[in-house]
Amino acid sequence: MAEFLQHVRDVLNGIEAEGLTKRERLISGPQGARVMMGGRQMLNLCANNYLGLADHPDLIAAAHQALDGQGYGMASVRFICGTQDLHRALESRLAGFLETQDSILFAACFDANGGLFEPLLGAEDAVISDSLNHASIIDGIRLCKARRYRYANSDMADLEVQLRAAKADGARFIMIATDGVFSMDGYLAKLPEIRVLADHYGALLMVDDCHATGFMGPQGRGMPAHFGVKADILTGTLGKALGGAMGGYIAGPQPVIDLLRQRARPYLFSNALPPAIVAAGLAALDLVEAADDLRARLFDNAGYWRTGLADAGFDLLPGEHPIIPVMLGEARLAQAMAQELGGRGVHVAGFFFPVVPKGGARIRTQMNAALTRDDLDFGLEAFRAAGKSVGVL
Ligand SMILES: *Cc1c(COP(=O)(O)O)cnc(C)c1O
Repeated sequence: MAEFLQHVRDVLNGIEAEGLTKRERLISGPQGARVMMGGRQMLNLCANNYLGLADHPDLIAAAHQALDGQGYGMASVRFICGTQDLHRALESRLAGFLETQDSILFAACFDANGGLFEPLLGAEDAVISDSLNHASIIDGIRLCKARRYRYANSDMADLEVQLRAAKADGARFIMIATDGVFSMDGYLAKLPEIRVLADHYGALLMVDDCHATGFMGPQGRGMPAHFGVKADILTGTLGKALGGAMGGYIAGPQPVIDLLRQRARPYLFSNALPPAIVAAGLAALDLVEAADDLRARLFDNAGYWRTGLADAGFDLLPGEHPIIPVMLGEARLAQAMAQELGGRGVHVAGFFFPVVPKGGARIRTQMNAALTRDDLDFGLEAFRAAGKSVGVL
């Protein structure tokens, strides 16, 4: 044990020496545009709370009501005695919202992606994955027996090369897997082009729409709706725009959902979501469908913030998504910038290896509908001052 702990300490020291240690800041009080940290109110520019619903009174009321009426926990997996009417109501509601035949809930989208591939694809099949896909897709693919192919991020020529390779290798079924939005960059997957290639090669298309559902596309129906194309299988989360608590899902054709209910391991061997979260998820979908005003504010904020940062002279990645990364290069610089901003009352997180490539360190700012124009002006002023102080402006 002593030797093992020494080894673990050495690894930690290595992480620290490279400037890669992540430090968690404590929030007291709810998630929101402003949060309390260490007795101080901070502007919060790094939540996935795109529509500002994380402390919405309707969701809190729905959760309270379910707590009172349906109890605290399920103490069971779904198939033994963990399915309430609420669970099925949310699964139907999600399927309706996403325009699929059915959906199946998981404890998180990490579990949804972890459980998706293994029951659906066997050794005779192929899965072709974008190189920037979320860690949970990568892990889910690792857990299945299908042959694996990878294409450079959004590189359609490379995707076609991989489709040809999978065909040449004799794949029975081919599934293309992509994030709908690549979360470190805010880039949108090229779904129309991917769909054309998928159809040409007879492949299935799976889209993880975590950073889109609720706010991208008409009524927030996500990237397929945004582009007017169809995904065969969708995965997503309740932990971002849809209230921000937790829970994930897979939505798709009835037989696919039925088989996942029989075989998906994180579904079969993990607890059912608690009623309060499920009820609030239902309330979140009611709000989201009617939230054109919140979506307009979100994109108005994103435009204002992007222009303000660009005018100040920051190096941004181009795009239209409310993820707006400020590129800084080295991990230490991103850490220093985050620290400077923290001192000025702005909470952001530096992102660096291993979540982004080495040399691609950044501060990923994220807009949401709860931020006011005053908030953004305060944030821009802090960015200008911090940028000067660390020497990037
Ligand atoms: C956040 C995220 C997940 C994980 O979702 P959870 O519900 O928090 O587990 C999966 N995929 C993508 C693309 C994400 O952004």
